[in-house]
Amino acid sequence: MPSPAAKPPPHQGSGDAAARQPGPRAAPPALRTRLAKLGLQRNEDLVLHLPLRYEDETRLSMIADAPPGESVQVEVEVADVSVQLQPRRQLLVRTRDASGELWLRFINFYGNQASSLEAVRDGGRRLRAFGEIRHGFLGAEMVHPRFRAVDAGEGLNESLTPVYPTTAGLVQSALRKIIARALATTPLFETCTADELFASTSPRQPLWDFAAAVRYLHAPPPDACADALQTRTHPAWQRIKFDELLAQQLSLKRASLARRSVGAPPLDPPGRLAAALLGALPFPLTGAQRRVVAEIDADLARPYPMQRLLQGDVGSGKTIVAALAACRAIEAGWQAAFMAPTEILAEQHYLKLSGWLEPLGVRVAWLSGSLKKSAKLAMQAKAAGDAQLVVGTHALIQEGVDFARLGLAIVDEQHRFGVEQRLELRRKGGSPHQLMMSATPIPRTLAMSYYADLDVSTLDELPPGRTPVTTKLIADSRRGEVVQRLRVAVGSGRQAYWVCPLIEESEKLQLQTAIDTHAALSEELAGLVVGLVHGRMKAAEKAATMAAFAAGEIDVLVATTVIEVGVDVPNASLMVIEHAERFGLSQLHQLRGRVGRGAHESACVLLYQTPLSQTARARLRTMHECNDGFEIARRDLQLRGPGEFVGSRQSGTPLLRYADLETDAELIELARDAANRLLATPAGIAAAERHLARWVGWREELLKA
Ligand code: ADP
Ligand code: MG
Repeated sequence: MPSPAAKPPPHQGSGDAAARQPGPRAAPPALRTRLAKLGLQRNEDLVLHLPLRYEDETRLSMIADAPPGESVQVEVEVADVSVQLQPRRQLLVRTRDASGELWLRFINFYGNQASSLEAVRDGGRRLRAFGEIRHGFLGAEMVHPRFRAVDAGEGLNESLTPVYPTTAGLVQSALRKIIARALATTPLFETCTADELFASTSPRQPLWDFAAAVRYLHAPPPDACADALQTRTHPAWQRIKFDELLAQQLSLKRASLARRSVGAPPLDPPGRLAAALLGALPFPLTGAQRRVVAEIDADLARPYPMQRLLQGDVGSGKTIVAALAACRAIEAGWQAAFMAPTEILAEQHYLKLSGWLEPLGVRVAWLSGSLKKSAKLAMQAKAAGDAQLVVGTHALIQEGVDFARLGLAIVDEQHRFGVEQRLELRRKGGSPHQLMMSATPIPRTLAMSYYADLDVSTLDELPPGRTPVTTKLIADSRRGEVVQRLRVAVGSGRQAYWVCPLIEESEKLQLQTAIDTHAALSEELAGLVVGLVHGRMKAAEKAATMAAFAAGEIDVLVATTVIEVGVDVPNASLMVIEHAERFGLSQLHQLRGRVGRGAHESACVLLYQTPLSQTARARLRTMHECNDGFEIARRDLQLRGPGEFVGSRQSGTPLLRYADLETDAELIELARDAANRLLATPAGIAAAERHLARWVGWREELLKA
């Protein structure tokens, strides 16, 4: 937590009353485009565009005293300006102050730079140069310092110089100017008083006012605590982060209230269809499945859309839970849609769901992007017409599919879908109930801050009779032994996956590796049937290969990560992952989840290439020690931070620019309480609207995903 609070600077009420200036929208088009790239469209956005770091131009150093490795400002006389051609073309400026000499060296320079520096010398003026002093061939030198000419005795800056995040073509000085102007002309109102925000819970240290905090952060005084600013623990930063989190919480709450006012069909049939499905299953539900089914049933019976996330480790049995939910929608006379992120997975679901439901008289349709046009049209017609359950990939949410009566949308492996796709689904067919499923559990702070609008159910129990998967770490040099082991497994009737190394940089290389691996293994395992499945295969080929593997006609399936999610072949009991060190933890866990699905002893061999990096070693060790997806997710969060969990592809991450979900957990809780308190009174709601307008403005759409 922050060091003892420095006193906030006194209010400088000046800007608040000033007439509002036009802001970025009135800037010249080129500048406007660059500002827009940074997300800066309004004055309010500029005010909230806070520095990455600062440079200290409030004091001068003597050349001889400059500490090494730190940027300093010196004030020097220009002695000599010359352009050298050997050993390379460069502009050399010899300067000095009372303590010694300093060379300024420019490798990239404009012709007029030399003449303007000569003018400084000839006019008897001085230079203030800002940069790091190093000791080079010529002696003390600064390379490419920032500099400006001053007259003797000219005053120093009174505050630290902000360095802002910027983009190509937008220089700091221009950005500083436009931000300073926005700061002076934008009303920096307080959302509400601290009392209103913190009635019962109070932060461990009093938060600064918003206005004081932004003014301070854009222009901290020379004595500001550099460390607290850098680590963003300074009370001014705490205020900004709190406000940002408050905006997020308010926005999520508002979305959730709006959702409740929309209205969805209450799905409360007698439950005969679900009962029939349960009766036909070869297994009873686990306790966890029964509990979650009840939670979902209660949601579905309500007259507003369910929005529930079902999280459960790989193999915990999410599909049947979803099928039971679909039964309620169907029995009540509505359609259900079931969407999966890959063709393979969608097809598996289709086979499984139609196997369960068609015998009960349910009309199940299949829709994927790879269907031939005519078949697709026919399926689309079914979706629009009499299909009761439509299973498919994201083709389901693409143009042309209009559901007649969509009552429930199920999204499997929801973290694999992007924001846009989720928005799209929401726009489809009114406001259906939504069930999202994920095997990647979301840590608590993430859940709180990204899914305040979601209810969460958890399957925390695996179906009985599973043998835990043993995970072995084996150096790549022992690959031969692993191949032998594979032969033994197949000899005793089992099947195996062989996962090719991940080559993120190049899809082509990835494909080639898969083909090479397949060729090599076919040779090494002569006599066995070795299959191959990868992302570039035609959907029909892929499906045929998977079907052959499921039917036991293929012994060893060489695969790229296309098998990462959801594939279910219980007889496969061995998985080898090559170059396991290249995979992320949750990816490895997902992959490993493809084995251990039947009653057979199962193993996962992680082949790795030495030397291993620190984090790769930690990841592999975690895989070896740990079979529990929730624990793995927790360690993953530790190893790489939350960013990748909810990359911008996956959610509205860009909305949190300052707050950090791990270190600011306390602020998240405070923001959540404050949001609830604000929304409880009309005055608070008005304040919340103002706050959201400031923080979210045009980005609000993103947050709804
Ligand atoms: P996931 O949660 O990873 O999507 P699945 O729904 O694919 O898991 O279920 C994994 C396997 O477990 C499937 O073969 C499924 O039929 C089976 N299964 C699900 N629930 C049970 C249960 N209660 N008892 C036994 N097997 C079950
Ligand atoms: Mg699944």
